[in-house]
Amino acid sequence: MSVRTKDDTPAMRQYHRFKRQHPDCVLFFRMGDFYEMFYDDARLAHKVLGVSLTQRTKGIPMAGVPYHAVESYLHRMIEAGYRAAVCEQIEDPALAKGVVKRDVTRVITPGTLTDESLLDESRENPLVALVAHDGSVGSAACVAWAELSTGALCASTFNGDELHDELVRIAPREILHIEDDSAPATISGRNVAHLAEQIGAVATPRPAWQFRQSEAAETLKRQFEVATLSGFGFHEDDPLICPIAAVIHYLLETQKSGDGTERPRMAHLRPPRRFAREEHMVIDQVSLRSLEIDRTMRSGQTEGSLLGVLQQCVTAMGKRLLRHSLCYPLRHRDQIEKRQRVVAALVEDGTLRDRLHDALEKVQDVPRTVARLSVGRAAPRDLVALGRSADQAAAITSILAERPAVQPYFEALAGVAADLSQLAQTIRAACVETPPAHLREGGLIREGYDQQLDESRSLKRDSQGWLARYQKQLIEQTGIPSLKVAFNRVFGYYIEVTAANRDRAPDHWSRKQTLKNAERFITPPLKEFEGKVLGAEQKATAREQELFARLCDEAARHIQQLTVFADAVAALDVLACFARRAVHHRYVQPRIVDDPVLHIDGGRHPVLDEILGDRFVANDVLLGSVEAESAGSDKAALALITGPNMAGKSTYIRQTALITLLAHTGSFVPADAATIGLCDRIFTRVGASDELHAGQSTFMVEMTETANICHHATASSLVILDEIGRGTSTLDGLALAWALTEYLSKRGCRTLFATHYHELTGLAETFDNVINLNVTVREWQDQIVFLHRIVPGATSQSYGIHVAKIAGVPAQVIERSAALLAQLEVSHHNPASTLRADVPSDDQMNLFTQYLNHPAVDALRQLDLEDLSPIQAFDTLRRLRELVDP
Ligand code: ADP
Repeated sequence: MSVRTKDDTPAMRQYHRFKRQHPDCVLFFRMGDFYEMFYDDARLAHKVLGVSLTQRTKGIPMAGVPYHAVESYLHRMIEAGYRAAVCEQIEDPALAKGVVKRDVTRVITPGTLTDESLLDESRENPLVALVAHDGSVGSAACVAWAELSTGALCASTFNGDELHDELVRIAPREILHIEDDSAPATISGRNVAHLAEQIGAVATPRPAWQFRQSEAAETLKRQFEVATLSGFGFHEDDPLICPIAAVIHYLLETQKSGDGTERPRMAHLRPPRRFAREEHMVIDQVSLRSLEIDRTMRSGQTEGSLLGVLQQCVTAMGKRLLRHSLCYPLRHRDQIEKRQRVVAALVEDGTLRDRLHDALEKVQDVPRTVARLSVGRAAPRDLVALGRSADQAAAITSILAERPAVQPYFEALAGVAADLSQLAQTIRAACVETPPAHLREGGLIREGYDQQLDESRSLKRDSQGWLARYQKQLIEQTGIPSLKVAFNRVFGYYIEVTAANRDRAPDHWSRKQTLKNAERFITPPLKEFEGKVLGAEQKATAREQELFARLCDEAARHIQQLTVFADAVAALDVLACFARRAVHHRYVQPRIVDDPVLHIDGGRHPVLDEILGDRFVANDVLLGSVEAESAGSDKAALALITGPNMAGKSTYIRQTALITLLAHTGSFVPADAATIGLCDRIFTRVGASDELHAGQSTFMVEMTETANICHHATASSLVILDEIGRGTSTLDGLALAWALTEYLSKRGCRTLFATHYHELTGLAETFDNVINLNVTVREWQDQIVFLHRIVPGATSQSYGIHVAKIAGVPAQVIERSAALLAQLEVSHHNPASTLRADVPSDDQMNLFTQYLNHPAVDALRQLDLEDLSPIQAFDTLRRLRELVDP
């Protein structure tokens, strides 16, 4: 907490004022060469940033970071989930009268970043706002999400189940919610905080009025300068506009312009779009995680995930769109085929592919540059990069010309190429090729571009010559060889003579400063020169700023064309990435059909294929048939896959899911041939995600996921299951797995079920759409060799002991378990037989066999129940009891 005392210095009084305006931010307060933090902020900085905690006067805790490294400290603060406000000195301290003027010029929060250094170029950085919505069917949430760096703004209503799934896909960094828990439409702060924590975001409470229906429409109309919202497909009492308005308020508040004066309008923010869940294949959080689509389960990193192996996009926006494409596969055949046609054209034509690649590589992160431009935070480098990128519009257009497959992109680019070339030309004519990092350093604008700037600059340059000449002249006049004409920021220009020569200074020089060893003077010509030079410097800076602002305005007038360009580039980059992958990794174009089929010849797991190369064993999938082609001869919808551990069952079912998913993105797939029926959703229930569910038993999680599949799987879904029922007793588990298989086979959704329960393989006899597959294993000299090949039919052996041996379980244990297995197998397959007591056994086993061999058991077996009267039965029971307990 900050405590104000009446004897605060003026600077501290300023500090308190800004801190009051931004109570939820860590305030980085510029003081000279440092950004200082005070009180609790200082303690937090000490903890989070590791900077040392000191004390300002009166024991105020203080911690500081050097100004030139502030970006990296801000980055760490944001990464740790805090918000920061940066308070700058907005006038030159040398010229300030009294305390230097300051203002908060940036409020940085995890979901509102635009600075390149604070963002990962390959990931979107969305901001979400949500409110509760009591619709006709149970509780739901109205959700809006914006990507400030691209200006995209979407909204949708999600019911309870969908909300979590969709938030995981959106992957926001920050979630806005109503701060007042009693306000209507509130989802409690605690719930949002919990949700945010689960998905790695921060929850930010906001005032209730910013979500209010009565004001939301006005907010939207003002932002997008429209009289009605109907053009965007929203009406004024649509509850979805409430979170949209909250997002806009927040962006306007946090995105002050760079100089801290006016608020930008965020012209790059696109009109809100209603997100239609049914337009895309649903990938729920479980599938997203367990199929390792954008990150691996173990490390949480992109490397090793599907995205990680596919990621060969050359532009930042392409990289972001690739993740998006994998998380939101398409549902409509024509859309998928449209993408496939582009990929096919690029696969066939190596020259087109290479030329496009080279041109795309030159395009910088246009959307994020546009975002900075639009919030007034563009740097000289942004402008130059924008010019260079804009130049590529025409280049790419000409590369695409006369290629029918890429016609839509050609047309989009051709429509903006001329304007963008003009913009590129303007920027190129004005700016140097290697601009300074900050405008204040000067040197962005080319020589010869602006007469006024050139004049000021030449005056500055000439000043060095004038000074040298003036110094020489004074030395001659006074005969003091050590005389110097110099400059410092406090006193400006002066003539300096050593103390020994003090008396030789002419009387008409005015004394400026007396030092221990020297005396400093000023003369009227030097004073006049100083005025001119300092004026020239200031003039040059001001002029350069003016020209920069003008160029930024010019670029901002092209935001719409730049957005069209960036969208086309991102899409082409992703499709070109698919094409390169297809060429270099032998992917083929899948045939997309409407019937629920999966025919994959020689399918491979995209990630393992890359790691194992030739050692990867390709496998086929054959489920369902295309109605028109085979008169429904092949009805198989559900395949049960049995085989030993480590044989490749999980790999097989996952690769099938990944191939299906890839086919829906328009990408080619790792297979020799594939026909994929359109799929509305991929369900997965695979093990090994246990650690992620703290507080819930593994079995409970497994059953929750199973329930979800039973409720939502349709005839168009793909279900992959791995080891259902393991978390409970063998019989429970078997019974559940059995019932689930029956249920799914009746529903007819394509299902691949890898299981240990060999008993299930009998289901293929009862249900004509269930088939058995197993993974081949070769036994060789008491060892097993995994062939990883999937073949029809069931397997009856589990090879668990072999696997344990490979895993290094001691020989003693292996031998003992082999002996036990032999006995157990006999009793399992022939329940009437007993285990033999002469096999060496441990104590527990003795106990077990001892009972099985007991005379009471023998007597029980010999009883003929049919012939027993009730009295005899009682008598027999009494005798049995005596046998057990004599
Ligand atoms: P299971 O699910 O049957 O226990 P996994 O699918 O986890 O087995 O596979 C175990 C290991 O076997 C994998 O990590 C991989 O190294 C290897 N493997 C699996 N499938 C193949 C394959 N088709 N070709 C080559 N190696 C494979």
